[in-house]
Amino acid sequence: MRCVEARREVCKTAREIYEARLVPGTWGNVSALVDDLMVITPSGMDYGTLSHEDMVVVDLEGRVVEGFFKPSVETVLHLAIYKNRPDIKGIVHVHSPYATAFAVARRPIPIILEETAQAVGHEIPVAPYAHCGTEELAENVVKTLENNKKAVLLANHGLIAGDVSPSAALNVCYIAERTAMITFYAQHLGNINVLSSDDIKYLHEKFKTYGQSKDK
Ligand code: 13P
Ligand code: ZN
Repeated sequence: MRCVEARREVCKTAREIYEARLVPGTWGNVSALVDDLMVITPSGMDYGTLSHEDMVVVDLEGRVVEGFFKPSVETVLHLAIYKNRPDIKGIVHVHSPYATAFAVARRPIPIILEETAQAVGHEIPVAPYAHCGTEELAENVVKTLENNKKAVLLANHGLIAGDVSPSAALNVCYIAERTAMITFYAQHLGNINVLSSDDIKYLHEKFKTYGQSKDK
């Protein structure tokens, strides 16, 4: 992906997290990695009027290379994830209500749905609390993302997901939020039943060929 396309995808994804009510106000952020540059949303700007030209391009040390605005305060966090996870090319961070309820309770989101097993493949653990925008938060998240995880909860804060692109990471956020919501309701009906590790492995593997293959 080139920077021009990345600016458009990051901006489109950022507007979507707001429209889908995964964030309040100007919170949350989105990025994409393009070779040794990262395209990230500007800090604290109104999503309603956000344009791809407002995106900020930084190098791997977080120095602004292109853009008129201050990059997201979570630039350190996004960069730390890319540096530690070469498979991740897009990141989405949201403050969606049900996932954040689990982050406040400091309880992992369990794998209770087939789509969670398919698209996420692991329960979503909680990274220990640290202030937003800090190196400490970045370290806690990177550690909690170990073993190829796609998403983690940030204690008393929200959710972050990484995948092959910003739109793929957004899909992980949607599924995490929905899984948290259904867990919450199911718990009010009685005990929740999590899928077995064999079922999770099977579903996650099978999902790799789900949908229409490119050569058809
Ligand atoms: P930014 O607006 O600087 O991206 O910060 C929002 C946020 O959610 C911090 O965790
Ligand atoms: Zn946040």
